Amino acid sequence: MRKVIGSNPMLPIKEMTEFLKKLFTLQNKDSEIDLISDEIDTIPQKIEELQKEIKDLEEELKQKDEEFKKHAIHQKELENELLKIEEEIKKEQMELYSVKTNEMYKSLKQNIEDKKKRKSEIEDEILVIMDKIDEEKRKISEFKKELETKKNQINNNIKALEDRKKELSENLKNLKKEREDFVSEICSTEEGNIYYTKYEKVRNSKNGIAVVNVIDNACGGCNISLTKEKINEVLTSDFPVCDNCGRILFLEKKDESS
Ligand SMILES: [Zn+2]
Repeated sequence: MRKVIGSNPMLPIKEMTEFLKKLFTLQNKDSEIDLISDEIDTIPQKIEELQKEIKDLEEELKQKDEEFKKHAIHQKELENELLKIEEEIKKEQMELYSVKTNEMYKSLKQNIEDKKKRKSEIEDEILVIMDKIDEEKRKISEFKKELETKKNQINNNIKALEDRKKELSENLKNLKKEREDFVSEICSTEEGNIYYTKYEKVRNSKNGIAVVNVIDNACGGCNISLTKEKINEVLTSDFPVCDNCGRILFLEKKDESS
């Protein structure tokens, strides 16, 4: 294979620059493809998080409902106990008329007093629990309204993310096709093929960034200052590479005719 890449360029300067320009264009395409791919990759997790948000809210409502039901059952139990104790008091009060001894009368009377005390306690408990239940009913109804609003918002956000993913995927498909065509064009010559292979090698080892601009006499990839000699090399070599990070350096030449 003929040597193309090195300090002794075999291609005329103008053609070399054309290759570098093409690699630079390819880099821009690849960076855009990477950016879009990265964004697409983040979408499923975002959707999952939003779905979990809805699930958590629904779980919270379920817990509130269960708590409410528990209190309602307890209220019912207290009401039953109250009825029972009222019956017993009534019955024992009737029995008072038929007791034979003072002792029995006293004991029955005491029994009735104890039950009345318990009855009053139950009534207080019922009042407390009824207040609690009213409060819970109000809160649950508010929560349900909020939940509906939030669910709508979240579902809208999910829909927007799904639309975005569709749009990005479509873009990505087109960009990949464009890239494919562009690479075919670059690789249509043997020299171009070598440049492309070199580009891919650097790109794979440098986190997807193979070609960087020279910005203010520094490498656009690692930011290291470039010497005058290096800048000159960038302008004249067929494959100028940063000595520090190994990326291909690109510097758009000023129009030579002016
Ligand atoms: Zn560098």
